[in-house]
Amino acid sequence: MTEMQIRRYARHIVLPEIGGVGQSRLIAARVLVLGAGGLGAPLLQYLAAAGIGTLGVVDDDTVDLSNLQRQIIHRTNDIGVPKVVSAQRALSDINPEVTVHAHRERLTAANVERLIEDYDIVADGSDNFATRYLLNDACYRLRKPLVAAAILRFDGQISTYKAWSGARHPCLRCLFPAAPAEDAVPSCAQAGVLGALAGTLGALQATEVVKEILGVGRSLSGRLLTYDALDGSWDEMAIEKRPGCPTCGQA
Ligand SMILES: [Zn+2]
Repeated sequence: MTEMQIRRYARHIVLPEIGGVGQSRLIAARVLVLGAGGLGAPLLQYLAAAGIGTLGVVDDDTVDLSNLQRQIIHRTNDIGVPKVVSAQRALSDINPEVTVHAHRERLTAANVERLIEDYDIVADGSDNFATRYLLNDACYRLRKPLVAAAILRFDGQISTYKAWSGARHPCLRCLFPAAPAEDAVPSCAQAGVLGALAGTLGALQATEVVKEILGVGRSLSGRLLTYDALDGSWDEMAIEKRPGCPTCGQA
């Protein structure tokens, strides 16, 4: 590490769980974030500030006035700008040492493996079930840890999936074997979402990504954390590996 890096990351380096070795690992890490929206905004900013050396951002959307209530990586001046461009600019301002790859495309079955293969870990901050299940299955096939969060109204949830790493580790389809119909669950646009809730869950995702890179603490794999912002309470649910899981079960 350079003198500047040692100063920039001093509060990490002083932590025995990170140290110089851990910080070097963060600098060498490559993380792909799906969505530069509500969850992606805090997630990307904390990962850049933490010195994650390579960040990829996948989003095909442009910044809209209605995004600014929670997507705090974007500014009023960014309205109409592609979100990946606006996010890339903000992240370079936070930490010019970070390389940011802007993938201005929508995740599909045809591009998912190409997008994730060059990264060590994937964080899902998308807003739709099609993306969540595509990522779950592709991350399983390519053996990438997936830190996934979701928010709606005043409720948030987060877990980590790495079902390829052993019998105790489930995937998203162990929890819910199939995606619900897109119109069965309302979107944030239809039902609303508290702005700061995105900050809470996105920051938690950044924490879990850093933990997975460092291999410290207790992974969220096998546990679904849920947050009820109105009640001000957290809950934890164990997720069992499903023997007949269509993705990670035994054939
Ligand atoms: Zn599974």
